[in-house]
Amino acid sequence: MMSTQGLQMLASPKINSERLWASLMEMASIGPSPNGGSRRLALSNEDLDGRRKLLDWAELLGCTWQTDQAGNMFIVHPGHDNNLSPVAVGSHLDTQPLGGRFDGVLGVLAGLEVFRTLNEQGIKTRRPLVLVNWTNEEGSRFAPAMGGSGVYSQRLSLEDFRAARDKDSITLGEALDESGYKGSLTRHDLPLAAYLELHIEQGPILEKKGLPLGIVSGVQGLRWYDITFTGDSAHAGPTPMEYRHDPLMAATGFIEAMRQSVRDDVDGISRLTIGDFQVAEPSRNVIPGAVTLQVDVRHTDENALQQLDDTLRTHVKAFAEREGVSADIRELWHMPVTYFDASLVEDLSSAAQALGYPPFRMMSGAGHDAVNVSYVTPTAMLFIPCRGGISHNEREYAEPEHCAIATQVLCDALLRTANRE
Ligand SMILES: [Zn+2]
Repeated sequence: MMSTQGLQMLASPKINSERLWASLMEMASIGPSPNGGSRRLALSNEDLDGRRKLLDWAELLGCTWQTDQAGNMFIVHPGHDNNLSPVAVGSHLDTQPLGGRFDGVLGVLAGLEVFRTLNEQGIKTRRPLVLVNWTNEEGSRFAPAMGGSGVYSQRLSLEDFRAARDKDSITLGEALDESGYKGSLTRHDLPLAAYLELHIEQGPILEKKGLPLGIVSGVQGLRWYDITFTGDSAHAGPTPMEYRHDPLMAATGFIEAMRQSVRDDVDGISRLTIGDFQVAEPSRNVIPGAVTLQVDVRHTDENALQQLDDTLRTHVKAFAEREGVSADIRELWHMPVTYFDASLVEDLSSAAQALGYPPFRMMSGAGHDAVNVSYVTPTAMLFIPCRGGISHNEREYAEPEHCAIATQVLCDALLRTANRE
């Protein structure tokens, strides 16, 4: 007897990979950047042109659409029972100033390709499907990033979202009001039963492993610190080494010890970055008075992230004591590890396996709208490799074959999820 999985596999509609690729390239030509990438900053004219293009395509399918108060777009593919909350798919169409053609765009246009496929084959799911384009994911024109999904999930207030200013002092609120995409709906008017997001990995793992896709079971957490070591500024000549209170020596001792602790992590999962290192009033022949470091630590396990925090505090204290300086640790941000919905991760894994692809599980190194959405809706993600792990760059590239494979997996997983009793 054939398994139900086998039947589903035979019944699964085949997406059109050429159509998907052509749409990706057409979207990339809206707001083209000098070296073959795209420039569609959130709510800029180019972003609005990209949104309009998406709606033109969706309207050709007979889809209706709505926007919420953050300008997030919800395009509807009706189901058999439209009283049920929809299953959503999506990502973002906005880009970095010199952005690529796939970051975000792939997730949106893969969803569109699923809609086109179902439409052409006359397939309706039990629950309706919704394609979402989240506003201002990149955070490049307006900070913070992932703003639209932040408002949707109520992790960012509408006031803070609207108050963000670009470099010309235009607020996001003003740009949104002018865009024609400001709606009045909130999450309570648009509840989702589930959310799936396909995205390029933006890292090297899948490419290095030679895998066409990865099932993302969560997103690594991070903690940000400003650490200041303060000592006594003094003349480089007359001050003997044993009488110095040199904050730079404390800082460099701390950095080396922290680096060693992170490298001792056998799984190679811990991440440590010192993104900035400032010496107050630097001068060659003066012992610095103060040194400030900007530190970013990350891990895929919340307990291990806590351990990194403990280690960091221990090293700061030890090296401040060694040099006889004081130390101040200011924690600026703690984004806990995100764990996606186990049953959706399973849906994606089974869909991949049924098509003959290994369901390789991984954690995301970067934040995504899916992180915000996961706080209010069962969520999971799918990654494909991008060449050299490069993104936020005009050279960003994903293979057509990988885009197609992942869109097929997405299609099959959406059908499973949206047809579930
Ligand atoms: Zn993205």
